Amino acid sequence: MSVRLHDTLTGETRPLVPLRDDGVRIYSCGPTVYGPAHIGNFRSFLFADLLVRHLRWRDHRVTWVMNITDIDDKIIRGAAAAGIGIGELAERYLGAFIADAAALRMTMPDATPRATHHIDDIVALIATLLERGHAYRTDDGSIFFRIASWPAYGRLARLDPDQLRVGERVEADEYAKDDVRDFALWKGPKPGEPSWTTSIGAGRPGWHIECSAMSMKALGPSFDIHTGGIDLIFPHHEDEIAQSEAATGQPFVGTWLHCAHLQMSGAKMAKSKGNIARVADLLADGISARALRYALISVHYRASLNYTDESLSAATAAIDRLDAAVSALAAYREDRPDDPTLAATLDAARVAFGAALDDDLNVSAGSAVVFDLVRDLNRRIESRSISTADAASAVAALRDLDRVLGVLPEEEAPLDEHAASLLDARSAARERRDWAASDRLRDELVDLGIVVEDTRDGQRWRRTSEVGRA
Ligand SMILES: [Zn+2]
Repeated sequence: MSVRLHDTLTGETRPLVPLRDDGVRIYSCGPTVYGPAHIGNFRSFLFADLLVRHLRWRDHRVTWVMNITDIDDKIIRGAAAAGIGIGELAERYLGAFIADAAALRMTMPDATPRATHHIDDIVALIATLLERGHAYRTDDGSIFFRIASWPAYGRLARLDPDQLRVGERVEADEYAKDDVRDFALWKGPKPGEPSWTTSIGAGRPGWHIECSAMSMKALGPSFDIHTGGIDLIFPHHEDEIAQSEAATGQPFVGTWLHCAHLQMSGAKMAKSKGNIARVADLLADGISARALRYALISVHYRASLNYTDESLSAATAAIDRLDAAVSALAAYREDRPDDPTLAATLDAARVAFGAALDDDLNVSAGSAVVFDLVRDLNRRIESRSISTADAASAVAALRDLDRVLGVLPEEEAPLDEHAASLLDARSAARERRDWAASDRLRDELVDLGIVVEDTRDGQRWRRTSEVGRA
């Protein structure tokens, strides 16, 4: 069984066959760090995270690269408005992005190259396109890609090349390019804009060329998977293909994956409509990061996701059910023979979950498997039909599936010797009904940051720093 993915370019769902035997190489278009990221951005990043996690769960070696756009029109405008340099603005929002990504438990990519650190690579790629006759200069020092030189242009977006970019006349006038469809690889210097002095002249890179240069630098001229939001298909990814393949003469990407839009209460989330939900704001409002993650990943990536208060409540309830099952299993104690039917149930769940995710990341079917398993386990706990060791295997099975979903709480680090001995002493005190000693030991544990609860299965503890950190 192998992972099958839907390729935007061919429209086919095909088995993933890595191009090289040293693993799967993935590039994702990352954030433009000019402001705080919103949940629509993170839907796309977390879908790539889910892909990476699933491939690793399937024992693929994965190299995941996500670029950081730290130079573009929006950053220049934002820095000017804030009265700071573009470096300072980018640094601020790169920090915010990393904090949001960590809160939402996004796997850190193996590399996060920044455009301003790769000007040399960008310039070298543009120089090659100039040499090969796919690019030309204009009087203001800009360099454009000549779409007429690339007949395959428009294949990814399924557009008629003659009909392209008629809406971009303003930019055409501004830069005096040969053909209204052509796009900027390099923008000539302008007063008040940052500029680099290079072998192709002074100026700054366009946005599209940055992804071609950095993806091929990190992963080679041909790599396995390129991801992004559906809004990047045209022109961004169409341009990436044209630039990269025109420069190298090799196929750029094996499989293109695009994540559908996130809608906010039925409308496309857009700054102009004022219906933007930022991750940091939602978390500051007390929304659980794990519930938000689940709300963003639990709808198939090619289906439009409608984010509403109801969808968030449903995600919160789902996470609560998972948490409750895991903590009940962790605390479960029953001295009885192991249940011989349990192993088969856990194996079947793993097989069904894997098959669902293999099928173009069908995460809704995968989650349904997890919640069916949770229901089954709850019944077994209720009827006390499993052993203590069975309960531990069930937790391990849920944690294994959660390597892909990433929504369970972190495993507790074991207690140090002193705290563990206090817990043992308290348990012994309760057995001999010495409530005064039991209470004194509970207070001592609280001083160590450990809260103890008494349940049917005995003492349950957690660290106070984690109370309320849902
Ligand atoms: Zn990109």
